[in-house]
Amino acid sequence: MDAHRARRRFGQNFLVDPGAIAAIVAAVDPRPGDTVVEIGPGLGALTGPLARAAGELHVIELDRDLASTLPARLPGAALNIHQGDVLRFDFDRLPPPLRVVGNLPYNISSPILLRLVDIADRLRDAHVMLQREVALRIAADPGTGDYGRLSVVLQYRFEVEHLFDLGPHAFRPAPKVHSSVVRLQPRPATRPRARDEHAFSRVVQAAFSQRRKMLRNTLRGLFDEARLAALGVDPAARAETLEVSDFIRLADACPAAAPGEVLPEDPSIGAGPRA
Ligand code: SAM
Repeated sequence: MDAHRARRRFGQNFLVDPGAIAAIVAAVDPRPGDTVVEIGPGLGALTGPLARAAGELHVIELDRDLASTLPARLPGAALNIHQGDVLRFDFDRLPPPLRVVGNLPYNISSPILLRLVDIADRLRDAHVMLQREVALRIAADPGTGDYGRLSVVLQYRFEVEHLFDLGPHAFRPAPKVHSSVVRLQPRPATRPRARDEHAFSRVVQAAFSQRRKMLRNTLRGLFDEARLAALGVDPAARAETLEVSDFIRLADACPAAAPGEVLPEDPSIGAGPRA
């Protein structure tokens, strides 16, 4: 059972540093009665202490071998094991508010973060381990090189807090990259939101589709220059200079999408494996 060979395609880099494990569990601070959901329990490094503190734990694990051997690895832990892909998991099945925890598989960390945005209304918080570069991107301020679509979409719904970093040797096998633990807390319901979330996504996606280009070009299909200027947005500026509030204003002024319209993807959203 303990001879599990890490599967690269599942982004498996298991936490082995007791200090790091304790620091993550302390940051989450689970309490009895919390609905805690762990994404990718793996060999159970976080699962055991989380389950002990919360009393009960939901875990979502794609790897069938790991999902089936977890109870034997953690005897006595009250686990609800959901074997399957977190990207297809129906979080509506669990009683909110949810507390999500995960040392994420880095090859799909961006889609998982976007999934957390989708379920932000059901979350109390999320604590996730990310490749350091991704953590820097989601926490980045406007006007910096790290600020992009992922920053805007995450910061629109969450307060993003970069908690601490871990080196490769906290994991086995050791990845090539450094890692960061990040806390996401949903912004209060009173915070400004776009009238239409799809319009918000369209504007953000179009603006960052070619980040070196000026907004007058990237947003050409949605606004002419005069309209941009009237909305308080410099047509010669680039997307990375706009605040989340600017994107909300643009979304609220955005014309309806044409049927079947497909926007170009932001190449920076793709993620690579960590090892
Ligand atoms: N939590 C463990 C730890 O910290 O040692 C393992 C973390 S490892 C980086 C990522 C875990 O996510 C692995 O157990 C992997 O099998 C699992 N995983 C990978 N892709 C997944 C997916 N799409 N849905 C759910 N779990 C996934």
